[in-house]
Order: sequence, then C-alpha cells, then structure tokens
Amino acid sequence: MMQSKPFFSLDRVSHIYQSGDDEEHEALSRITLSIPSGEFVAVLGANGSGKSTLARHLNALLLPTSGQCLVDGMDTRNESLHWQIRQKVSMVFQNPDNQLIAAVVEDDVAFGPENLGVPSEEIRKRVRDALNLVGMSTHAGDAPHLLSGGQKQRIAIAGAIAMRTECIVLDEPTAMLDPRGRAEVLSAVKKLHEEQRTTIVYITHFMEEAIAADRIILMDKGKVVMDGTPRNVFSKPEYVRSLGLDLPLAADLAQRLRIGGEDLPQDILTDEELVHCLSR
Ligand code: ADP
Ligand code: MG
Repeated sequence: MMQSKPFFSLDRVSHIYQSGDDEEHEALSRITLSIPSGEFVAVLGANGSGKSTLARHLNALLLPTSGQCLVDGMDTRNESLHWQIRQKVSMVFQNPDNQLIAAVVEDDVAFGPENLGVPSEEIRKRVRDALNLVGMSTHAGDAPHLLSGGQKQRIAIAGAIAMRTECIVLDEPTAMLDPRGRAEVLSAVKKLHEEQRTTIVYITHFMEEAIAADRIILMDKGKVVMDGTPRNVFSKPEYVRSLGLDLPLAADLAQRLRIGGEDLPQDILTDEELVHCLSR
C-alpha cells in the first residue's frame, strides 16, 4: 500500500528551555518522527517526558532549538507561515475552563471561522455540523460555564472542527474529567477521525484511551523510545512499566495470569479479548 504523505515531519528536533543559563534543560532530544495525514496517534510518557513540549511544536507555539519541524511541508521556523500553520493544526488543552470564550456555545464554535472571514451562512452550517459531530447540538444555546467538563471539551473540539483544521492536537484533554466525560471526549475524537479523516495527535496518560489509536508513540526523557501499534507497544509490559506507565487493564491482568501459569497470548489488549481467551 502507498504511504500517505507526511503531515508532520520532524527531523532531529531538540528543544532546550532557557537555553544558555544554568537552568538549561533539554526537553526534547533529537526527535525524528513522521506522522501521515489522517493518522490517529496517541502520545504516552511519564510526567516531564516532553509530551507537551512536542505538542507545542506541532503548531509552532514553540520552535526547535535545533532541527526542523515541518507541518504540511511548512517549516515552523518561518514566522510568516505561522498563521497558515495554525489554520491547519488546532490545539485542545487540559483545562476545559480556559478554552471557551463566548457567552453562548454556538458563538464559541463560530469564533474561529468568523476570524477567518467565512460567510455567515456557511458559518451557521459549520457550527451545526460541528456540534452534531460531537453530540452537543441540543446545547447550542447554552452558556458554556454551565456545562460539564466533558461537554466543554467537546465544544472546544467543535471549535476546531468548524475551523476545518486538518489536524487536532489534544494535550491530556481528559485529565480533569470524570469517567463519563472521558468517554464522551474519546468517542467524539474517534468519530472525527473516522468520519472526516482528521489527523489526531492525542496525548494521554489513560492507557485504555491509547488503545483507540492507530499508533502509539512512547516518550521518555525527551526521546521517542517506542513507536508502534497499541498491540505492539503493550506486548512489552515490563518495558512499559519501567517507564512509569500503567498497562491497559486487560493487558495487565493477562500478564499476571501468564506469570501464574495461565497459557494466554502475549498481545491481549481489550477486555473482550481477555474474556474470549479465558472462556475457551
Ligand atoms: P510532559 O508534558 O510530558 O509532562 P513537558 O513537555 O511539559 O512534559 O516538560 C518536559 C520537561 O521540560 C520537564 O522536565 C519540564 O520541567 C521542562 N519544562 C517544561 N516547560 C518548561 C518551561 N517553560 N521552562 C523550563 N522548563 C520547562
Ligand atoms: Mg504535559
């Protein structure tokens, strides 16, 4: 099969905060990475491993100290391209309360396309479609501050959808949510990926969320230390644990059962697979 063209292409990207003084800290260390258009990538790593720093390079909020970061072929070091880059890549952050600006949900979703000068008829259509995709149509007229965290994050995602960005980078969007809010956000992201082939970069510390991705990038101390399918990554349970990360519940249980002498495959990922193997 032909590989689709890379949307992100990073070549030996390093990022040093406070370059030059004693506090100097290399948060990213020679990262070389390519993410094709339409891929759903989860990024995992312990606190401080460089995930947020990496995310901020993807829409030119941070620039490489050395190396090159291309977004759809555009070099982030070229400031005259930043506006264009940010039309293609939007960010959703951890705290749902800091992201919504308007007093009414539909105005918030309309904010991005309005700034782009999209005609008002077209904006109304985009807002409707975006709210529909994230399952928030019935809240179009609500005040954002009355919504739950999961609903607010879905409004933030709808804002990106209405902008028609080709990629959404989500930096621990579910970290402050309850289980229900987490499930709502993940299902909106999956739907966006499946229905519109939006490129997704999804940073999380919830392993069950990472299984939904096509690919997992594991980071440790500013480096990419593993890059593969969820099945591939979680079939190395000892290694994943050594980085300070958990395993998906089913993979964890399967490993313990194997240690206890149970004959189970190495690459169990989901509850369904575990149940299936155990009930044979
Ligand atoms: P993660 O998102 O994986 O927790 P970050 O990218 O936030 O990791 O941080 C990577 C490293 O860079 C950490 O050691 C962190 O302390 C450091 N760091 C992050 N932001 C700054 C900053 N603004 N100034 C100095 N160091 C920073
Ligand atoms: Mg972070």
